[in-house]
Amino acid sequence: LRLCVCGGPGCLASGSADVHRALQEAADRMGLDLEVSLDLVRTGCQGFCERGPLVTVHPSGLLYGHVQPQDAEEILRVTVLEGGVVERLLYREGKELFPHVETLPFYRRQRKKVLANCGFVDPDSIEDYIVQGGYGGLARALTMEPQTVVDAVVRSGLRGRGGGGFPAGRKWEACRKAQGSPKYILANGDEGDPGAFMDRSLMEGDPHSLVEGMIIGAYAIGSEQGFIYVRNEYPLAVKALRRAIGEARRLGLLGPDILGSGFSFDLEICRGGGAFVCGESTALMASIEGRPGTPRVKYIRSTDRGIWDCPTVLNNVETWANVPLLLSDGVEAFLSLGTEGSPGTKVFSLVGKVRNTGLVEVPMGMTLREIIFDIGGGMDRGRHFKAVQTGGPSGGCLPEASLDLPVDFDSLNDAGSIMGSGGMIVMDDRTCMVDVARYFVSFLVEESCGKCTPCREGLKQMEAILKDLTSGKGRPGDVDLLRFLAENLRDTALCGLGQSAANPVLSTLRYFPEEYDEHEREGF
Ligand code: SF4
Repeated sequence: LRLCVCGGPGCLASGSADVHRALQEAADRMGLDLEVSLDLVRTGCQGFCERGPLVTVHPSGLLYGHVQPQDAEEILRVTVLEGGVVERLLYREGKELFPHVETLPFYRRQRKKVLANCGFVDPDSIEDYIVQGGYGGLARALTMEPQTVVDAVVRSGLRGRGGGGFPAGRKWEACRKAQGSPKYILANGDEGDPGAFMDRSLMEGDPHSLVEGMIIGAYAIGSEQGFIYVRNEYPLAVKALRRAIGEARRLGLLGPDILGSGFSFDLEICRGGGAFVCGESTALMASIEGRPGTPRVKYIRSTDRGIWDCPTVLNNVETWANVPLLLSDGVEAFLSLGTEGSPGTKVFSLVGKVRNTGLVEVPMGMTLREIIFDIGGGMDRGRHFKAVQTGGPSGGCLPEASLDLPVDFDSLNDAGSIMGSGGMIVMDDRTCMVDVARYFVSFLVEESCGKCTPCREGLKQMEAILKDLTSGKGRPGDVDLLRFLAENLRDTALCGLGQSAANPVLSTLRYFPEEYDEHEREGF
């Protein structure tokens, strides 16, 4: 019998550490042996942040939501002393507290592949990960030729989950064939989008999936050293990864001659300094090298000359976490989910004015409507859906007419937004879309590195216009000038941050032009 106390960001914020402590103390008082009677585990994010703190019982699937420390004895009595499979609902103040996981639409419509372990395994225990089949993908890869591993990733069509959606296998192939040496493997854990916590949850809740994915990638490409770049604001992720790396070394899964294969590889963690721009690939590499984290023009591919001018493969955390699944479950299983152009699943952090906020994983191609209304539970009573912002500050805002859009890389791009790393912010009818654009542009003004003029100066001018518009000081021609600046920024900025920084403005201009006109008229 396993009792999983969620230690994800949302549940920690709502007091799950106190719940975990209360369960331990209650078990002592009740004379329960935690080694024998039940396995009390602090896990990573279980997803349903809205109802946190969460406690899930396995194998029954009983979910305890909104748990308070004073519930500890009752939970132990029901789950341990009465057999752990008690099928009943408990109510407090008329509120349903303990439904079964599978009865909740929030979980029922999801397909947890990358997040399968997150919320179940103890992230501090490599043995727990191995019991769930962890490092099975690596064991399989080591029986294959490195080129065969690359071929499998190419065939899977796995696309980078960090934003661009570039095929991971093509990067691997190019780096494997590149002439230089040594070769490096990097993970981008510099998740800086407001409202996004997908990579954080994976690093904290299932760090070995990232470590295993990177070892497999290193074997395939021929690399002996990798780096995980984690933003400074994620100390718990750093702690979990440090422990995971140490445990992997202890079992001979990292270091010299891994599992007697003759292949050697090790990992190091680099902490970012908190700059959003360091999520951009060339800036991230500069930062790891110890230089200021500013982007460079990408006239040379990093698979040929990346970090320290050596062939480098950079993927984000979720992309790497998909790799063990490709090897252990097989490419066909991966291709059986998602769409032809975007196979597999995608993890999203679903936040904003939606009833069920949390961390979700769905097959690519599920519509926005299904994610927001079926899984997310729709809007609060009396409120109406207005827009959803996907892709973080560089993404776009999509209106109600886009709700039946399938969520995949290409459909979102065509609609003027991006998948980004998976942030999804839902807005209701109280939201002013011009103010939303102002918020994201102000964020990017702060985060622009200042290296190129269209971004450094253009964003400031855009921010000034948006501030005027939203404070009733708009002038005739402001909206046209704003569009001109945004299009120039998109077409001439040096790096991806600047090129996509115009998206919040351009997408709101495209879908909500009447709000801009209204604000502009206010100033006449
Ligand atoms: Fe820096 Fe912005 Fe230019 Fe990118 S587009 S290099 S963030 S100034």
